[in-house]
Amino acid sequence: MSDLARIVISVALYVLLFGYSIISLVEPVDATEPLANYPRMPAIDNAPPQVAAWSLSPTVVVCQHAPISQIQIKSAIKFWQNLGYTFENVRYKEDPTGACTSDRPWGYIVIHLVDKKTKLEPTALAQTHFFVDNLTGKINWATIRMRPDVRETVLEHELGHALGFLHFNRIDHLMNQKWEMGGWDSLGLRSNR
Ligand SMILES: [Zn+2]
Repeated sequence: MSDLARIVISVALYVLLFGYSIISLVEPVDATEPLANYPRMPAIDNAPPQVAAWSLSPTVVVCQHAPISQIQIKSAIKFWQNLGYTFENVRYKEDPTGACTSDRPWGYIVIHLVDKKTKLEPTALAQTHFFVDNLTGKINWATIRMRPDVRETVLEHELGHALGFLHFNRIDHLMNQKWEMGGWDSLGLRSNR
């Protein structure tokens, strides 16, 4: 593989409690693994920045060991549906297309339990990566890794990252980067499509 095909900008935005990073993909046709990341960190204070969106509705897959109940995922999906987002499908511990084991689960938001390979800050509750095609600005796939004993709002918050949102540090807001300061405020999260 040509090194020129690999344009990698790597920024991991790990924060005190919620962790996330954005992987912005410059499509290397023959690359064996996702590359690249994301230098932008907009400082916008009046709304949660949404830096990318899905072109098609993603399918959400709760993978085998993910510490999420069926009730939790249903409720989290409902939260985002109520804000105008659509999902192609939601699969609970069923993965007929192998999205959970894929390096590039195109069209999917996959939810895993953290594993030893996950570089997660000790205080982070979860981590989401979303992969953006730099040419189209659209999200291709997202992976969420969660610690056990998922607290209220964490799954919804991580799905927010998977839908392209960054942190927004307003008190009680869902996308607050600190869990203790967050809540159910969804200001600025409604889909404008
Ligand atoms: Zn976060």
